[in-house]
Amino acid sequence: MDEAREQLIGAVLSGEARAAARACRVVDEGWPGHAELLAALYPHTRETWYLGITGSPGVGKSTLTSRLVQHLRCEGQRVGVVAVDPTSPFSGGAILGDRIRMQAHWADPNVFVRSVATRGALGGLSRTTADIARVLAAWGARVVLIETVGVGQAELEVMRVAHTTLVVQAPGAGDDVQAAKAGLLECADVFAVNKADLPGAEAAVQHLRSMLALGQVTGSSSRSHSGHSGATQLAVRASEPGSEPPIPAEWEVPVLACEAARDRGVAEVLAASKRHFRWLGTTPAGEARRMLRLKEELTALIREALSVAIFARHAAEIEQAAARVAAAETDPYSASRALVGRWSGGDAG
Ligand code: GDP
Repeated sequence: MDEAREQLIGAVLSGEARAAARACRVVDEGWPGHAELLAALYPHTRETWYLGITGSPGVGKSTLTSRLVQHLRCEGQRVGVVAVDPTSPFSGGAILGDRIRMQAHWADPNVFVRSVATRGALGGLSRTTADIARVLAAWGARVVLIETVGVGQAELEVMRVAHTTLVVQAPGAGDDVQAAKAGLLECADVFAVNKADLPGAEAAVQHLRSMLALGQVTGSSSRSHSGHSGATQLAVRASEPGSEPPIPAEWEVPVLACEAARDRGVAEVLAASKRHFRWLGTTPAGEARRMLRLKEELTALIREALSVAIFARHAAEIEQAAARVAAAETDPYSASRALVGRWSGGDAG
């Protein structure tokens, strides 16, 4: 391994922020040796929890993310934030007020914020996000928050990177209908109805619960739902130790109300999200979910590596085939099947 890379790895692992920033650039831009860098960092990332935070613009994701950072820092955790949302104050698209609100975290040496502005040199948005989250984990973040706008397929893909997906909604604006459309309902491990100070929050909570229950009945969602998580009202924290309920065998998606702006209910949202991570690590169903994620990641990496290798090796053949299609000697369907058949030893022809 070349010396510069080894130095970079050592510096990231010893928690140097500048090294982490450089490593982020290496993976983001797909510099030579980035895969080796990630492979060397990977063993040091196994303990980190990736918490995805998603929802439509304006529901309060950034405010909530900022609050979560604050809570995690109070616990003494080192925190990474990957902002995929281009409008997020974390990624620099903020109005002035938000920027000021975030400044506490900018100055904190134990918070590392990185925005994903590009789709990366190689893979898609979700690949780049996963790689950057790993770098922040190797830098020492025990929790990496991944904030993204829950619109569109690419953004939903990003959430696959996270162990736990927290979907944020706000009262009104037909958000619950949008949630179903965007597939957010299916990807949520925890729901937070933010802006509980506004009218309609209670109704939004109830509506989400009934939609989740419906999903369970029709089998459209693999998760079950708790209709009695008891957090419709903002819970006054009764912080008796030992009152934590046992981890269920099947995960029940909790729907919690919160008010990120005034830091009400945020501790409960964090606690519910942590519980999901514990569920992943301690139950057979959770274990199955983890395996599925690993398999998906591996498949994506193989697909990417295979296509790079194949296109590099067979560029000339593709060119010739395109010329034959242009000359009306064949069609794209037959030509691609024939090529893939040849490359894979005749299986696909
Ligand atoms: P994002 O686009 O989802 O990241 O949303 P922001 O965090 O930028 O918040 C959008 C607006 O909602 C901002 O003006 C926030 O101050 C406001 N907001 C955030 N949390 C709350 C809340 O709990 N109650 C109310 N009323 N407003 C909030």
